[in-house]
Amino acid sequence: MSKVYFSDRKAESHYNMLDKLEHVLQEMGFLDAIEEGEKVMVKTHFGQWGNTNYIRPAYVRKAVELIREAGGVPFVCESCGLGYGEGGAYGGRTTAPEYLAMAELNGYTQATVNAPILMADGYWGTDVFDVEIDGEYVKKVDVATAVLDSDKILMLTHAKGHGLGGLGGSVKNLGIGLVGKKGKAEMHWMGDIDLDEEKCLGPECSKCLKVCPVRCITMEEKANIEKDECIACYHCIHVCNRVKAKAISMTWRPNHTQVYRFVENALGVIDSIGREKFWYVNLAVDISDKCDCWNVGAPLLVHDIGIFGSKDPLAIDQASLDAINEAPANPESAVGKEVCQEKFATAHACKDPDSGEIVPLADIQMAHADKMKLGSREYELVQLTREKPDKS
Ligand code: SF4
Ligand code: SF4
Repeated sequence: MSKVYFSDRKAESHYNMLDKLEHVLQEMGFLDAIEEGEKVMVKTHFGQWGNTNYIRPAYVRKAVELIREAGGVPFVCESCGLGYGEGGAYGGRTTAPEYLAMAELNGYTQATVNAPILMADGYWGTDVFDVEIDGEYVKKVDVATAVLDSDKILMLTHAKGHGLGGLGGSVKNLGIGLVGKKGKAEMHWMGDIDLDEEKCLGPECSKCLKVCPVRCITMEEKANIEKDECIACYHCIHVCNRVKAKAISMTWRPNHTQVYRFVENALGVIDSIGREKFWYVNLAVDISDKCDCWNVGAPLLVHDIGIFGSKDPLAIDQASLDAINEAPANPESAVGKEVCQEKFATAHACKDPDSGEIVPLADIQMAHADKMKLGSREYELVQLTREKPDKS
């Protein structure tokens, strides 16, 4: 059984949300574990432009300052998204300059967080190292290179919904957030790419060649894709659609395998440098059914819950999920009109491949993380409080 530390959302002037974050980080042993001069990554998500539910930069700054006070050298990381270029619900986070510009729009700058902000997987999302695992779906995980050089990693995660995993918590932040573009793409879609020469506009266009991060598109009379080299990043499809040729297509995976894949990616990430180097915080505030990568701050499912902290990515996600499911539903939200005690069951469910039953994706995620031994679903919740100072 793993310990999960928790401070609720009832902020007061002597114990506000930043005090609570510090309290959780202290009690879970993170601050005391930092040694002088250690490089400490704070992995978070800067949010999609238009989404207003993502983590406020103040939480990241607080973590950064505590790490520095403890003797560490903090830096803040995110990884590149999918798609290419601006536009669309998920666009504008594909390359380092794109995403860093969006981070700035959302208030994430070196000045606001008081530390360097880096893309953990480089300019294109292809700065990675491979880790072999014995997963059911994934055998090799492309882990963001910045992980390799980190002495400790604080996963500062927004607990909320996720279309492919039910819950978007610490496991998702590892399995999608710290893998390169290849790992993200393999998880999202099939990767069987196809180019229709009839539709290709030929050398005068050549737009797809410029955006292929692995240089696997060549041009003669028509574009040609070296399929074995393709990492399924989707860049070429976006630019081809933009010139209205729609010559390139890719097959999507059946929904249920995606959640298994990102759980297995998470295993590769934590085992790449040793799971003892990872620490987890879930901020269970502004909880909608949608991930922060979507351009809408959707109505909140439940009231704010509080801050969780743990050394165990599965225990902290299970604790967050249980608390969200126990809270009364917001009638204005995606699940409000249903009498549903499992919030992400209504928002995100799929057919179980074995039983054929409709089951919450979050439950599939937790069960598979348990099977892959990411941590424990059993947890002891340690409630943290702080007495008001006596002014008499
Ligand atoms: S972007 Fe599309 S139309 Fe243009 S060269 Fe590439 S495949 Fe052909
Ligand atoms: S060919 Fe493959 S790797 Fe290259 S841009 Fe297209 S999807 Fe990405």
